[in-house]
Amino acid sequence: MNHAIDELKVPLDKEIKLRDVDPAGTHGVTRENAADPLMKHLKRLSVLQYLLYAEGRRSLLVVLQGIDAAGKDGTIRRVMSGLNPQGVGVTAFKVPEGEEKRHDYLWRIHKAVPEHGQIGIFNRSHYEDVLVVRVHDLVPKSVWSERYRQINHFENMLSENGATIVKFFLYISKEEQAQRFRKRLEDKRKNWKFSPDDLKEREYWDSYIEAYEDVLRKCNHDYAPWYVIPANHKWFRNLAVAQILVETLEGMKLQYSKPSADVSQIRFE
Ligand code: AMP
Ligand code: MG
Repeated sequence: MNHAIDELKVPLDKEIKLRDVDPAGTHGVTRENAADPLMKHLKRLSVLQYLLYAEGRRSLLVVLQGIDAAGKDGTIRRVMSGLNPQGVGVTAFKVPEGEEKRHDYLWRIHKAVPEHGQIGIFNRSHYEDVLVVRVHDLVPKSVWSERYRQINHFENMLSENGATIVKFFLYISKEEQAQRFRKRLEDKRKNWKFSPDDLKEREYWDSYIEAYEDVLRKCNHDYAPWYVIPANHKWFRNLAVAQILVETLEGMKLQYSKPSADVSQIRFE
C-alpha cells in the first residue's frame, strides 16, 4: 500500500472533512496480506531506531490522538513492541493536576519531548487543550482559539531544534466505539478499561469531530504533518502506523556519528 500512505496524509492545502474518510477503509489491503509487511516494518523500525540512537543528534516525536477506544494503547503495544526500551519513552497525558495546572499548557508537553537519539510517544498530547478543553468549555473560546497558532509555533520551534514530528489521528466510527465499549463491559479482562465517563463523552461525538477537523486544518504543516488512520480494523491501523513511522525515519537520512577516535589506528592486546 505504498502510495496509500500518501492518501492518509492530510493535505496541506485542502480543508479535510472527516465524513469523506472511511474509518473502516483498508486501501485495498486484506488482513491476510497485512501480516508480512507489518513484520517487515517492525524489523526495519528496530534498525532505524538504532541508527537514530547512534547518530544522537535528532529525535522522533510521535503524537497519538483519537477518541476514546480508538486504539491508542493498542497501537503503542503492537507497533512499538520491537523497539529497544532504552531508546523509547511513552508519556500519557491525563487531566492536568498539581504543578501542571500552575503552568502554561505546553509546559508539561515540552518537558516530555524526547532527547536527541530517542523516540518519544505521546498518548494524548497538547492537542487535548483544543479538543476536550474546547468541547467542554474548560476555558473561554478567546483562550483556546489562540492555541492553534501557539501550537504551530511550538512545533515549528521543536522541529528546528532536531525533533521530527509525526501526528496520528486514529479514526474509528461511532458504531465501532459502541462495540468496543460493549466488549469492555462484557469481557472481565477488559472491565477495568471501562469508565462511565466514556459514555458521557460519547454524547459529544459531533463536537469532537468538529474540534478534530479544526486541528487537522489549522495545525498541519510540513514540519509536523497529520495522518488520519482508518482505525476500525486494528490490523490496518497497525500496518499503516508502522509503515508511516518507517518512512518518516527513512526520510531523516540517519547516519552513524563519527567515532571519537580513528578506529583504524587502535591496537591492543
Ligand atoms: P485516558 O487517556 O483514557 O487515560 O484518559 C485521560 C483523560 O484525560 C481523557 O479524558 C482526556 O480528555 C483527559 N485530558 C488529557 N489532557 C487534558 C487536558 N489538557 N485538559 C483536560 N483533560 C485532559
Ligand atoms: Mg479512556
